[in-house]
Amino acid sequence: MVRTLLDEAICPACSARGMEYSAEPIELPFMGTSLETMIRCDKCGYRHTDFVLTSTHAPMRYLHRVATAEDMSVRVVRSGSGTIRIPELGIAIEPGIASEAFVSNIEGILVRVERVLGQMLRDAEDEDGRLRVVELQQTLQRMRDGQAEPVTLILEDPFGNSRILGEGTREEAIPPHEAEHLRTGMQLFDPQGNLVKPN
Ligand SMILES: [Zn+2]
Repeated sequence: MVRTLLDEAICPACSARGMEYSAEPIELPFMGTSLETMIRCDKCGYRHTDFVLTSTHAPMRYLHRVATAEDMSVRVVRSGSGTIRIPELGIAIEPGIASEAFVSNIEGILVRVERVLGQMLRDAEDEDGRLRVVELQQTLQRMRDGQAEPVTLILEDPFGNSRILGEGTREEAIPPHEAEHLRTGMQLFDPQGNLVKPN
């Protein structure tokens, strides 16, 4: 385990100076050795973890057709640079400061989306907005029961650090001209330790 104090780094959540950086080799299921990296703020508890695979790095796209309740247990490894989309439902989870790397399954992803929808429902300003959120919530529940129209879960990663590990999951290389439009979620610090606006 590598642990370093970045004295000059400024916390993106509370703006305090000084963050701890650590990197530790871990074994990810089915994916071999990777490095788990974390930056953490002592003052407010903000943390951001990520996985860096030590092998593949070509831009990759994974597509999984979600049709049955069994699909809920399909494993998903999503690094901080992975974008998850369900085009049929207009759902996208993009890289960013608030979106952490995780090892989960498709149901776990739906749970994350439901959490966001719950927040949107509380914040909704008009009845139309509320109705759209409620409809989506109902669709997600039917998906979990295997009762919804099939949809496609797409996971794209410009660094090839994410993966869907399911029976029948399709994988394809992303052409370079497409990969350059993907968000990376990279956090860059300038020499003074300020967080440069993430891509
Ligand atoms: Zn902080």
